[in-house]
Amino acid sequence: MNLSTLFAIALERTPDKLALEYADAEQPGRVEHYTYRELYTAVERWAAALQGLGLQKGDRIAFFLSNRAEFVIAYLAVIRIGAVMVPVNLRYRKREINHILHDCTAKILLTETAQQSVLDELEADDLAAVERMLLVDGAESWLGDESAPGPVVVQGEDLALIMYTSGTTGRSKGAMITHNNVLATVTGLLSAWAWEREDVILLPLPLFHTHGLMVGLHCALAAGATTRLRPKFDLAETLDVLGSGGATLFFAVPTVYFRLVESIRGMDLKPDFSRMRLFCSGSAPLPAETHNEFEQLTGLRILERYGMTETGMNFSNPYAGPRMAGTVGTPLPGVFGRIVDGQGNPVQPGVEGEMLVRGSNVFDGYWQDPEKTAASFSTDAEGIRWFHTGDLARQDPETGYVTLLGRRHELIICGGFNIYPREIEEMLCTFAGVVEAAVVGMAHPEWGEVPAAYLVCNGTLDEEALTVYCRSQLASFKLPRRFHYIEQLPRNAMGKVQKHLLPR
Ligand code: AMP
Repeated sequence: MNLSTLFAIALERTPDKLALEYADAEQPGRVEHYTYRELYTAVERWAAALQGLGLQKGDRIAFFLSNRAEFVIAYLAVIRIGAVMVPVNLRYRKREINHILHDCTAKILLTETAQQSVLDELEADDLAAVERMLLVDGAESWLGDESAPGPVVVQGEDLALIMYTSGTTGRSKGAMITHNNVLATVTGLLSAWAWEREDVILLPLPLFHTHGLMVGLHCALAAGATTRLRPKFDLAETLDVLGSGGATLFFAVPTVYFRLVESIRGMDLKPDFSRMRLFCSGSAPLPAETHNEFEQLTGLRILERYGMTETGMNFSNPYAGPRMAGTVGTPLPGVFGRIVDGQGNPVQPGVEGEMLVRGSNVFDGYWQDPEKTAASFSTDAEGIRWFHTGDLARQDPETGYVTLLGRRHELIICGGFNIYPREIEEMLCTFAGVVEAAVVGMAHPEWGEVPAAYLVCNGTLDEEALTVYCRSQLASFKLPRRFHYIEQLPRNAMGKVQKHLLPR
């Protein structure tokens, strides 16, 4: 089995059912609809066209695209012919895009006119790895007359995706995700969250990230449900759709729940969410306060889950059972978790350690990086291979539920996006006058955390120029929100910077 055969079930059973609706609150009146039949007729044509342009099984195609119907069509076409989609975070800029295009040696870059200004910044060298750039909003110019691709055998072990994680060394790593990995996460979630054909999901999460793609779109297509895709989260529209019975499911990051709570709190007449059967949160810790207040205001309890790019979904609170604030529940079907100490030995419930996971959902390794792959896995006494998540966790001895405690490697999560301090530190040090930099997460009521930078400088620094420089180098969510100037960074005897001694 491969992903296309899984998705073909809905096409065969309910071809006339609405598969996809796309609308943009900023362009009222423009709504696109696709039944399952219409969607897959388009997919077959796009698959034939991509094949005709030379995209073959195993070839990488980078997507620098916003959420739109063509993202879904093109993605399904890519996996249909056994090629590999490489989604690129839309907030990435020159340096980050350049790294990904070179690293995965994408044959095609699929993008849209709206990204022109970013792409204009790319230089010839940045695009050297790409043979061709295609615009989805000019697709008629390159879509041919063929209505179906030529024969191709795609198996479960074949790669479906390379998804780039934020890099600890300033270089993001490409997680190789097979059809089987996706199938494992999707089938686990279909049963754990009781997905039904009648479900309608409102989906403003970016499709370039595992949350929107893996958890949202994949499950909806596999269930034969309807996806109401949006380019981004819009508070007023979300309240309108969910409050008028326009969806049964909503998945979001904690920042979005924070905004919903803020807004609903001020309403005299609370929205009627009676058709909603599941509100789901993930990608970053959901504060218990937000969790509880959401329930007080709406009568509905959010289900929190835990996953990552490399593994798809790992843990979830129960669909039918107590959902506990501040926890990520228990392993999903087919997933095994183990919390270990610094020596790799399992710890007792109640004791914190690093979370290791295994299961068919766990990725194959990092693209062309056997060293990082080897460093991320370990084999236990029984010869079983475990993936080291880098997340610190503790299991409640009574309930068995797991609580995540923080990131081993000081990852900063800003509104659901990962930020690795070292990447920013390395960039800051390339600015004239900056000698050393240490970046830490600073608590923020809306975004969860935002980066703040401690700088050791050589003379007085022009902060305005530094800010402009940062903007040209980094995605906006990674920009340090505050600069502190210090004489020297606190270090331990081994010379390692002791970030916990820096005030937040
Ligand atoms: P990503 O690969 O972008 O999905 O990020 C994965 C990381 O996000 C995980 O390793 C966790 O550190 C964090 N994460 C995901 N879900 C949760 C959650 N429910 N609570 C706390 N952290 C989470």
